[in-house]
Amino acid sequence: MTPIQHIRPLPRHPDPRPTEGLWGYMLRVSHSNGFSSPWGLIRRAGMEQYEARGASINVAKLAFVTRKDGTRLQSIGYVSATQKRSYLLLGHSVPRTALELEAPHICPACVDDLKFIEAHWDLAIMTACANAQLRAIGRKPSHRQWLSGGTEVEPWLAGDSRLCRGVRPPVHQNV
Ligand SMILES: [Zn+2]
Repeated sequence: MTPIQHIRPLPRHPDPRPTEGLWGYMLRVSHSNGFSSPWGLIRRAGMEQYEARGASINVAKLAFVTRKDGTRLQSIGYVSATQKRSYLLLGHSVPRTALELEAPHICPACVDDLKFIEAHWDLAIMTACANAQLRAIGRKPSHRQWLSGGTEVEPWLAGDSRLCRGVRPPVHQNV
């Protein structure tokens, strides 16, 4: 385990957006620093795999490497700092089963428009986008894929049309 004092802060450390989820933020930080996957960020932050898995992310190390206030990052984290086994999305209490952090859906049109992934895409219920009138496409790669370094983050932040192959039918009224 890397002691926090041996961690070198990243050269680029964008601020989290008010409606951005923690995993989406980690993707954006990874991308802005030239890492092809979040694994580069996780290693740079000195995190072990268990410190960057699912809802349990070592926010203190992430705050240090991104030069952010830990409280600010904690506010977009998924685990309550004060209550055990209490899960959050943007500070709102949610059941753990409501969060889909392993392979959440994503709307490429919204990502292309906003240039970040909004936190509500971390909810399991999000399978379509009312804004873009699109069925949400595919799923982000699993953490296992990202942790292996074998999946690139770029297309997911660019709303890459390659992710939309044949899976962007219009949303029907009954969806
Ligand atoms: Zn959308």
